[in-house]
Amino acid sequence: MTDSNEDCIFCRIVEGEIPSRTVYETDGALAFLDANPLAPGHTLVIPTAHHQHLQDLDGHSAHVLYETLHDLVPVVEDAVDADGSNVAFNNGSAAGQEVPHVHGHIVPRFENDGGSPIHAIAGERPELSDAELDDIADAIAERTE
Ligand code: 5GP
Ligand code: ZN
Repeated sequence: MTDSNEDCIFCRIVEGEIPSRTVYETDGALAFLDANPLAPGHTLVIPTAHHQHLQDLDGHSAHVLYETLHDLVPVVEDAVDADGSNVAFNNGSAAGQEVPHVHGHIVPRFENDGGSPIHAIAGERPELSDAELDDIADAIAERTE
């Protein structure tokens, strides 16, 4: 684990080395407008320390990150008069993560904006039998014990 990575664009934003439209800062998290927004108000929320994956965060950092998202979602929606929002992480390159520093997207949504629900992000839906679903549920549950 490293706190800051000099090759990481979001670490450089945290360090103030490249500009951003910062909207909120707490001890451990930073929020700024996405430079290439999917909607007005598209905001990124990041832990200030450098980690690529959500699962790399320690419990405290995860808590601060979620609390910051929780605080900001209604504020962002209100600021752009949105009807809702999608809140999501691209976690890992297979999931479309391009910047390897954890970031949650807050994407404001508007009635009839032509967008899709989060269900649109995955590929083809798998055909899973009841037995396969049971096995998957067991595999997840036993790893949480
Ligand atoms: P990802 O695909 O990694 O989840 O999304 C990265 C996001 O970061 C993209 O939405 C992209 O527009 C945004 N982004 C990339 N570079 C910069 C930057 O230098 N500044 C800001 N504000 N956003 C950036
Ligand atoms: Zn970083």
